[in-house]
Parts: sequence; C-alpha cells; structure tokens
Amino acid sequence: MIEKINKTNEEWKNSLTAEQYHVLREKGTERPFTGKYDEHFGKGMYVCAGCGEPLFTSEAKYNSGCGWPAFFAAMDDDKVVRTHDFSFGMRRTEITCAKCGGHLGHVFDDGPKPTGERFCVNSASLEFKEEA
Ligand code: FE
Repeated sequence: MIEKINKTNEEWKNSLTAEQYHVLREKGTERPFTGKYDEHFGKGMYVCAGCGEPLFTSEAKYNSGCGWPAFFAAMDDDKVVRTHDFSFGMRRTEITCAKCGGHLGHVFDDGPKPTGERFCVNSASLEFKEEA
C-alpha cells in the first residue's frame, strides 16, 4: 500500500521548478524532443520528480521516436495510476504517480513486447538515479 503525499499548490510551487510544476501539477506537456531524458539511456532508475518514488527502470526504457521518454512497463503496476482522459478531443489514458498524484504522461497500446504498452512520460516528471 502506497502512502499518499498531499501538499498544497503553494507547497508544490516551492519545491518544484516552474516546468516541473506545470507538468506534474497542471498536467502540462513538455515540447517533444526537448526533455532531458528523451534520448537518455543510462543504467538506473527513474523516480518521480515530485515525490522521489521509483517509477521506472532503465531496463524498460526504449526509444519510441515519439519525442518523450518511453517505457514498456512501470516498475510496479501499483505505482502508476491510470485514468481515462478525454481532453483535447482525444481518448487517452493518463498516468499519474500513485504517491503524489503528479501527472506523468499517457500510456498507449502501441508499445513493444513483452507488454505491448508504451508509457509516454514527460522528462520533467522524472529524475534519473544512476545505478551505483
Ligand atoms: Fe510522485
């Protein structure tokens, strides 16, 4: 069971950069091919930029060519919450951090094996921790 974090908007503003705040708390999207982890393939773990919870590993990362970091799986299904998103006239599945509710991106069903899923995540929502 994941313990949830609740902060006020003011508290989030004080602990995040403007871009992180926009993406995580206002469900923003960074421009494609601009994020620091789009073409980043170091070995390690990607944690939530909002709360530090480990969400994805480099082993599930691949280059989807879509302009954002892509993973074929989350570290644990419980860590990433899926919600229907009908904004912008599209039918998508939003993904958020289970611990802090931060917006991560969307999950699509055009990913590679073994899952067939593509977790399309904003770099601004992640911090990379290199494997020691
Ligand atoms: Fe989080």
